[in-house]
Amino acid sequence: MHDLGQPKSDIQWNPVMPIAVPAIDRPKRSNRHAPTVLIVDDDPATREIVSCMLSLEGYDVLEADNGRKALAVVKESTVDLVLLDVQMPEMDGFRSVRMLRQMFDLSELPVVMMAASDGSEQIIEAFDCGVNDYVCKPIDRAILLARVKTQLRVRAAQKELRDSEARYALVSRGTNDGVWDWNLITGELYLSPRWRAMVGVDDPNWNPRGADWLVLVHREDRKRVLTDLEAHLCGETSHFETELRMQDRSQGHRWMLCRGLAIKDSSGLACRIAGSLTDITEGKVADALTGLPNRMLFHDRVERCVEKVLRRQSRSFAILYLDVDDFKLINDQFGHDGGDQFLVSFSQRLDNAIRKSDAVLARIGGDEFAILLESIRGLDDAILVAKRLQEALMTPFKVGGRDILVRASVGIAIADTTGQNYGNSSAAVDLLLTQADAAMYQAKTQLDSSYCVFQSEMLDATAAKLELAGELRYAIERNELTLVFQPIVGLSSNRTEGFEALLRWRHPVYGFVPPNEFIPIAESKGLIVEIGEWVLREACQQAVKWRNEFQRDVMVSVNVSIRQLTSDGFVKTVLDILDSTQLSAGSLKLEVTESLLMQQPEQTIAILQSLREIGTKISIDDFGTGYSSLAYLHQMPLDVLKVDRSFVNGMFDSEKHLAIVRTIIGLASSLQLQVIAEGVETVEQLQKLQSLGCDMIQGYFLSKPIPAADAIKLLERKWDWPQGS
Ligand code: C2E
Ligand code: MG
Ligand code: MG
Repeated sequence: MHDLGQPKSDIQWNPVMPIAVPAIDRPKRSNRHAPTVLIVDDDPATREIVSCMLSLEGYDVLEADNGRKALAVVKESTVDLVLLDVQMPEMDGFRSVRMLRQMFDLSELPVVMMAASDGSEQIIEAFDCGVNDYVCKPIDRAILLARVKTQLRVRAAQKELRDSEARYALVSRGTNDGVWDWNLITGELYLSPRWRAMVGVDDPNWNPRGADWLVLVHREDRKRVLTDLEAHLCGETSHFETELRMQDRSQGHRWMLCRGLAIKDSSGLACRIAGSLTDITEGKVADALTGLPNRMLFHDRVERCVEKVLRRQSRSFAILYLDVDDFKLINDQFGHDGGDQFLVSFSQRLDNAIRKSDAVLARIGGDEFAILLESIRGLDDAILVAKRLQEALMTPFKVGGRDILVRASVGIAIADTTGQNYGNSSAAVDLLLTQADAAMYQAKTQLDSSYCVFQSEMLDATAAKLELAGELRYAIERNELTLVFQPIVGLSSNRTEGFEALLRWRHPVYGFVPPNEFIPIAESKGLIVEIGEWVLREACQQAVKWRNEFQRDVMVSVNVSIRQLTSDGFVKTVLDILDSTQLSAGSLKLEVTESLLMQQPEQTIAILQSLREIGTKISIDDFGTGYSSLAYLHQMPLDVLKVDRSFVNGMFDSEKHLAIVRTIIGLASSLQLQVIAEGVETVEQLQKLQSLGCDMIQGYFLSKPIPAADAIKLLERKWDWPQGS
């Protein structure tokens, strides 16, 4: 505590000033810090003696010869203490004190009475009137100075306390935070009005004691709050700080930051703790990029819906899970800023497409969004919204000054209205979110539709996928991957022109896992780049073996995933592999699926051009399924179109399919590209393709994909088939 009552030593006393100048006309106090004492006595000798005693100690002194004048002085000047005689003309000491007390209380202006030494009754009355202390006449210098000093010290300490209380009150009124103060000995608990308002308690009769306030804390957070509190009270932490959820007015929860500091008694034990409560919900629940609710808030909202359904207060509701297909490509291509820019416009697009009165849109992960439809009549309503969302995505997005088209897969889960027991509502939310997520993954694998409604088998599929993903990481090092080769045969040369390398994974426990199942997982988990590189190297090595054995170039086709194609350094990897295996670039054909290629034609053109420049051939796989734009086809550096096997398969059942095959062959011819038909299973299909002018075929009619050792035999073989009419 500051010793404000202590006169400053740098103040020089001028012995003439205090006594030479008439009391009332004394100049007002300057900025000096010496305390000012007003001596009120009708006896000039007493005034002079006392004044001298005080001045010598560095005090400033003012004088008045009666009570009335004294009142005028304290009104005009700053006086820190009054020394007051009892008997004076006009206004005696008692009356003067009473008057002074109407203006200042005991701690603001101490008054020390100068009483007659035998006047004990006087002294008692003086205390009744409001003096702080007394000295007896004749004045003893040491006693006078000690009492004056003590009173000034008490006054300074009380002023300090008042100032700090005023500051505290001001801060507590001005801040948005709640304030709490907990006496750990008595259990008394002060909660400021703002604290109460923040948690929605407006009942003035609610006066919790001790840890009672914890009833407002979310069940799941209580234990942590107590642990943090104890850690601080035991001295393990320098201050108490914890984030917790507290009930709000609408029976929901708000996130709060609770901070405090303990005060210890002389034995070092915490006896009191006080602190603040800050509402941090905003930062906790809003997604910083899009401003949408985040996963936490979404969870909360769904939980409330579940509770309503369980209480039969509402009918069913739905959750839609939505994920941008191949978002990683956007990030790779345009960088994180571009990715962020896209996500913002994407979220706005979704936001515009939903009816805000009964729907909540949230961003729950990187490119994952969720929508809660709070009140629906049934599944059809949810499907309608899914379709509306997808319509909203039909217009291209502007990213980095370019137009890009994206697709999004939507998974739908409907809350059970039959009152099925979900356990607690939080578990029900987790279950529904998992269901919507599983349905979304299912939607991703569908070509024809990009939304899917949850069915129970999907959860098993999702779990299995996660397990597979874990295992796939070790597939290369455990030698579980192999390549098989399917011949591609020239329809006019009747010989095997090359092979398509197809990847196989034989897991020691699961057995054979089809590529259509594990390749999408490898892509989504980012494993495809490493696996793809392994395939390329193996296939090139195999082609070199065939060339060396047969002394002719054998073309090998390798499937390249779009993620692999657009990965950093892909062209260099191809060059390195060609270099190390010594395969001529012209013997390597890279197959890229049409639908994926056409999602970002502009970005892939440059990569394909580089690959063409080093001499490799480029083939568009599964052609006819990916809505190629003719403009892009023209610009793309291509060598081959591969007709998707669904069209070959349907050639005799559907005029449309036949027309598509015919058109693709015609298109290839006019673009001067080779055309290969996939999935040829019958001689009729083969003959038809021959008559349409197809260059090469591939399919079970000739051979299934086979191991390299068997494939080699097909290189010698002259193929033969009955000629069509
Ligand atoms: P794709 O590139 O279109 O390969 C042709 C698929 O059709 C192969 O299936 C092949 O076995 C199958 N097929 C060939 N002839 C016939 C037929 O006459 N009838 C029928 N029903 N099917 C036939 P597979 O090997 O299961 O591969 C499926 C897909 O997996 C491939 O389609 C390709 O997109 C992908 N894939 C396979 N290996 C790789 C690889 O190494 N890397 C990448 N990125 N993708 C691969
Ligand atoms: Mg292929
Ligand atoms: Mg294909």
